[in-house]
Amino acid sequence: MKNFDVIIIGSGIGGLISAGLLASKGLKPLVIEAHKSPGGYLSSFRRKDFIFDSAVDCISGTGPEGIIGRVMSLLDIDTDIDFLQVEPVRRSIFPDFDIDVYGDINAYIDMLISHFPSESKGIMDFFKMAGRIHDDVLTNIDIFSETYSAAFKIYPDIIKCRNITYENALKEYTSDPRLQAVLSDRCPFMGLPPSKVAALPMIMLMMSYFRLGAYRPRGGFQKLSDLFVEGIRKKGGTVILGNEIKKIIYHKGLCEGVVCESGDEYTCRSLISNTDYVSTFSRLLGDEYSDMAAVSYTHL
Ligand SMILES: Cc1cc2nc3c(=O)[nH]c(=O)nc-3n(C[C@H](O)[C@H](O)[C@H](O)COP(=O)(O)OP(=O)(O)OC[C@H]3O[C@@H](n4cnc5c(N)ncnc54)[C@H](O)[C@@H]3O)c2cc1C
Repeated sequence: MKNFDVIIIGSGIGGLISAGLLASKGLKPLVIEAHKSPGGYLSSFRRKDFIFDSAVDCISGTGPEGIIGRVMSLLDIDTDIDFLQVEPVRRSIFPDFDIDVYGDINAYIDMLISHFPSESKGIMDFFKMAGRIHDDVLTNIDIFSETYSAAFKIYPDIIKCRNITYENALKEYTSDPRLQAVLSDRCPFMGLPPSKVAALPMIMLMMSYFRLGAYRPRGGFQKLSDLFVEGIRKKGGTVILGNEIKKIIYHKGLCEGVVCESGDEYTCRSLISNTDYVSTFSRLLGDEYSDMAAVSYTHL
């Protein structure tokens, strides 16, 4: 049985970012991934001469001011990949209108107002609020901060949106369901409809494209995930692929390790689960923690 500082379940971008940060701080993280290649939704596959991305088509935060770019720099892998800017970020086609979403937020707001003139005040107020939330979260929840207390400086917009759905946030500012549908065009990224997705992460995701641009790596997203694995290993972290975690070992409420499909066991001081919460609580922890899988969406 091998011991690590932190075990991370899953090598999606959340797991890779966590492991990258920990490895760059001199800790020994272990990432265990069920699939034979890393990345989760940030992965690609090849058919004949073509590379297809499995899910993600563009991301933000790849530059020095974004989370992905900052962790890549800590892992010394930031110059090993070429990012291409995506513009327009997306095109949303509705039965009676067609909308290109550009990275320039003012152009986007003007375009929305031209389609929904009676909602102009609500549109402007919504984006002012969303911009404040994005900037407050990025400046105050500084993942590189040594002093954790600074991370929880409280702001009214964040408090307001902390426990409500994205649909409720939209309804506070707008009334036309067609406008609400346009402003919800990125909810599929979260895998949930606006009535179920939490407002705060949805607003962060939407605003990140306006603040930090939209990019995709030349050669497909698998390149980015593979590069993270390389960087984590170079900094002393361990990544195991193709071995599903079947059970989290815990004692008196503390996670102590995991058991894999292969029968291998690993122990740790801390554990990060980057798989979904239902699997974490009902399947991997099980028994006395399975009820926690029923937690409401907005509290995640
Ligand atoms: C169709 C689609 C398109 C999207 N497009 C975009 C986009 O363009 N831009 C954008 O920013 N976001 C997009 N998203 C959202 C984005 O893909 C996700 O938010 C993000 O990739 C989630 O990363 P994650 O690390 O949380 O989890 P995941 O990517 O789900 O990774 C979890 C990993 O954990 C592994 N795992 C699970 N259980 C175990 C276990 N027991 N043992 C070991 N390993 C395990 C899985 O195999 C997986 O690799 C899209 C999502 C979808 C579904």
